[in-house]
Amino acid sequence: MIGAREEADVSSVPGATDTADARRRIPRTDDLLAEPRLAKAVEDLGRGLVRRAITAAQGRARAGEIDPEAVADEAVASLPATASSMREVLNATGVLVHTNLGRAPLSQAAVRAVRAAAGSTDVEFDLGEGGRARRGRGALAALAEALPEAGGVDGVHVVNNNAAALLLCALVLAPGREIVISRGELVEIGDSFRIPDLVTSTGARLREVGTTNRTHLSDYADAIGPDTGFVLKVHPSNFRVSGFTSQVPVARLAELGVPVVADIGSGLLRAHPRLPDEPDAASALADGAAVVTASADKLLGGPQAGLLFGDHELVRRLRRHPAARALRVDKLTLAALEATVRGPVPPVRRFLDTAPETLRARAERLAAMLVRRGVDAVAVSTTAAVGGGGAPGVELPSAAVSLPADYARTLRMSEPAVVGRLERGRCLLDLCAIATDADERLVEAVTRCTS
Ligand SMILES: *Cc1c(COP(=O)(O)O)cnc(C)c1O
Repeated sequence: MIGAREEADVSSVPGATDTADARRRIPRTDDLLAEPRLAKAVEDLGRGLVRRAITAAQGRARAGEIDPEAVADEAVASLPATASSMREVLNATGVLVHTNLGRAPLSQAAVRAVRAAAGSTDVEFDLGEGGRARRGRGALAALAEALPEAGGVDGVHVVNNNAAALLLCALVLAPGREIVISRGELVEIGDSFRIPDLVTSTGARLREVGTTNRTHLSDYADAIGPDTGFVLKVHPSNFRVSGFTSQVPVARLAELGVPVVADIGSGLLRAHPRLPDEPDAASALADGAAVVTASADKLLGGPQAGLLFGDHELVRRLRRHPAARALRVDKLTLAALEATVRGPVPPVRRFLDTAPETLRARAERLAAMLVRRGVDAVAVSTTAAVGGGGAPGVELPSAAVSLPADYARTLRMSEPAVVGRLERGRCLLDLCAIATDADERLVEAVTRCTS
């Protein structure tokens, strides 16, 4: 029908007969939808997305950009890879945990677990008994085994993210009461998200103590009274104050006789040798924190989730609060989380443990391959960062393939998208957060930009 109307329009324009003839040869939508490759795509992607690709291809033919005979091929070529508009990205930014790029990439084990749980699954069902079971018990058990300091599954709870974990702590431990926090730990995490605003949105009040650079145990002690709900210890995960500074460690705060909630941020269960200043859950619990909160999609290397570890009675109250239902995680998250904790070392941890010489050797090899294909590429040594709220100031020696700056945009628009970083007029593709098995795809993507 669309074709017929177009015909009528153009044939009335004098001297447009060639164009009109070409337009008449543009295949009609129904015929294109019946073309085998596009019919298959309707099954995979749904009718709407395929129609959209067809309409765009017909439009290009009508504008004279492609031949009418090429419309089907063009429509097939422009079909999206999946029915979601989210695109795969190779993270060449040199930031290990990049919040804008979805933070930690899942391990293959976690991806398989997500697939298996995607249909109906026993997330909350006991197959042996044939009745209801504790939701996500596999993930809770995995975390409890990985962190014996939590004293079993009753000391573990999982919510939507670390922000949700803090919200729940405020709701349960400080309704209408005070949360005592150092002025040096009033942290904005990103995108205007501030921890003080988050916890006070529950109706709890903030009791700020000390100064930006120095807070002492006595500052806390002076502020504590009958109105105190808990002391909140926040890891300043994206900045560092240096010089004349002093903050009070969890072990000392625990002497104050009120619950201490420690937000460790990055989700390290135990101390990591490359990140000496990064707090970990095991130490915070051993130091006497009543509750430890963390993100699962930073250095733990798992899906977005908030982890809560701590005192069994407190965790039970957190779990039973009405808001817990609103903050709970879905089966896909639970599946990925369990597989991350039980499975092989997840990508983020492997990246963190890769020696800089290994990265440099890869960069040399990739640059040489690209030079052979006529690309102005050179291997360079770089400094990468943990990012995503973790280990501020820690510089990870890394290596990159350096390209002319105008590659940056073309690479971002390629499939898969490649996001590098611009530095001193060059586009750097840092390898620290690229899995070794993606090297060939990286080279292919750069080569395609040149053609
Ligand atoms: C990242 C971070 C948060 C926020 O965690 P989400 O999981 O993104 O909600 C809170 N506190 C600290 C210290 C962080 O580093």
